[in-house]
Amino acid sequence: MIRDLDRLNNIPEFPKHSPTNHFNWVLVFLLVLMLAVSGQSAALTVHPVWLQESLTKADKLNDKNPTLALEFTQDLFNQHQNKLSSSGKAALFYRLAAYQYYLGNITEALKHIDQFYALSPDLSSKDGISLLLIHGGVLDGLGKSKQAMDLYLHAEKNARATENKKLLAESYSSIAYWYSGNHNDSEAIKYYHKAYLYLKDLGDELDLAYLKIQMSSAYSYIHDNEKAMSLAQEAIDYFHQHEYYFDELFAHNTLAKNQMAIKDFDGAINTYQRVIELSEQEGQENLIDIAYLGLAKAYQRKKDNNKARHYFSLYQKVHAYSDSPFAQIDDLFLSALIAFSDKDIALAQKNIKQAEAILSLLEKETVLSWYIQVLDLKADIAVFNQDYQNAYQYQKEARKLFSSYQNNEREKVRSKYKVMFDTDQALLKNQLLERDKLLDKAELENAAQQQKLQTLLTVVISLLALGLIFFIYRQRINSERLHKLANTDMLTELANRRCTFIYAESMLAQAKKYKQNFAIIIFDIDHFKKINDTYGHPAGDIALKDIASVANEYVRNNDILGRIGGEEFLVILPNTSSKQAYEIAERIRKAIDKKDIILGEKVVNISASFGISQLAQNQSNFNQIFHEADIALYQAKNSGRNCISLAG
Ligand code: GH3
Ligand code: MG
Ligand code: MG
Repeated sequence: MIRDLDRLNNIPEFPKHSPTNHFNWVLVFLLVLMLAVSGQSAALTVHPVWLQESLTKADKLNDKNPTLALEFTQDLFNQHQNKLSSSGKAALFYRLAAYQYYLGNITEALKHIDQFYALSPDLSSKDGISLLLIHGGVLDGLGKSKQAMDLYLHAEKNARATENKKLLAESYSSIAYWYSGNHNDSEAIKYYHKAYLYLKDLGDELDLAYLKIQMSSAYSYIHDNEKAMSLAQEAIDYFHQHEYYFDELFAHNTLAKNQMAIKDFDGAINTYQRVIELSEQEGQENLIDIAYLGLAKAYQRKKDNNKARHYFSLYQKVHAYSDSPFAQIDDLFLSALIAFSDKDIALAQKNIKQAEAILSLLEKETVLSWYIQVLDLKADIAVFNQDYQNAYQYQKEARKLFSSYQNNEREKVRSKYKVMFDTDQALLKNQLLERDKLLDKAELENAAQQQKLQTLLTVVISLLALGLIFFIYRQRINSERLHKLANTDMLTELANRRCTFIYAESMLAQAKKYKQNFAIIIFDIDHFKKINDTYGHPAGDIALKDIASVANEYVRNNDILGRIGGEEFLVILPNTSSKQAYEIAERIRKAIDKKDIILGEKVVNISASFGISQLAQNQSNFNQIFHEADIALYQAKNSGRNCISLAG
């Protein structure tokens, strides 16, 4: 896939699993998180005062310099090992493991991890959870990817059980990073968003800034450069304001890469200049070569050959030889482009030959875009030599490759759409989280102040509506913003009829465009009128709410559940066959059937009937699909209710 190329080609921004660089970023991020966490653990884990003070000091040292923290902790251990309790030893082993890991000493880190486990410590304690994450990181670095994930999941489980938001955020971000390293970008982004929500909730601005940089990379992998840039810019602003220049340096690099991707060459030039400025200021040489290369490329693209050559030669002076084939091809190709602009055809051709030799060793599918670029340049050179026959052949071949490249691209756009969707849902969840917070607070302050609650609820409902507006706004550009305050059904908090239909139309259009499955389920509560008649209308409302939330548990992330009538609901299922739709409907049906609905002192059981239909031969419009599902529902009612019927 081309994106593998994007990942490895060019700038080794945050390389995955490379022992030397692995310890840059994520580790800094983990480090900061760990610190704050260990700071908090003081309150719960009971250590003697002298030890607690020493641990705090170690954590502070670590913030500036893990080497100092390591020496300090080793001394501490040597001096006091005889009088340390088991939990005291565990606290020291965890720190020793962490500092060694930050410093890249994997073997030492593993030794302390073993020492930690040998004490049979509580793995749900803060130190325990943090150690699981460190251990995961170590194993991941050693290529034991599956075991690493098991440890992250273990940490996540324990963090969730102990309601430790900070460590939960950290677990999510480790999981996200893992997915990113395993090329599953949409899962990565999903987990980054989970981490994001918790950090946002905790008000952890610095950690958020680190997370944003990681997220920015994840978004650029899926070619959402706009989002990647805005995240990078937010992080830059924070780092700059708080004088974290070293971090700002890395963040600028991420930004520049995206500017190049959207062909904002002037922007990229400015950013790379800033990288050089900061590198010099901070005495950090390791990004200067990347900035020079970036400048050379940007000027080459701007057809300013003098500057391109200038920066390319600076780059060659400071750049250490890289054994990455992608980096080598990248250098050779840039050199060929510059040579061609200089009309040095012999050098250009020599570079192309060398690049082709390396390309031939790689799997063609993964380097299609390079083949296309090379063919384009060969065609240009042939034209220059007035060899039109060959020029034509090269171009023909390039066009052929381009069409398979585009198929790959299309797949990427599809997954990007899915990710945007997940993102919007995450935003919506954020609003809900906010709402819960507001409500809790209000209750604590004064339960009797109904008035206040009322105001809060209004705020909440507006927030919810705003969330939905944003959601639709992303899908329907510039649409009637002002009319959208009424997209939520206030009783069930599901999307209302109008809003559900808008989603349905838009998702159906997507399905048709990409020739995917698309199905819907309509369900209607059985004998609902009786509930109202027997228990009263307010009780009926409670039942409706209960059923909506039961059903909501059984729809998947990308499905939409909406209330489209009094006691009638619609589930939109993108990329779903009618067989899968049937399974989902069956799960919802069973769950509703089983649910005990409490109305006053009575426990009532309710059922619902279901109709399913699907997009046929990529043709039907939504009205047809809806109509068919409605007929199927009618059949289900006629067959005795509490059952499912398929259209057609
Ligand atoms: P069937 O199994 O055929 O669907 O029978 P039913 O009684 O559910 O069907 P019908 O459509 O005759 O009745 C629907 C009832 O739902 C009528 C209406 O009073 C009630 N209803 C509609 N909206 C609301 C609401 O928001 N709250 C409450 N409590 N009841 C509602
Ligand atoms: Mg009904
Ligand atoms: Mg009805």
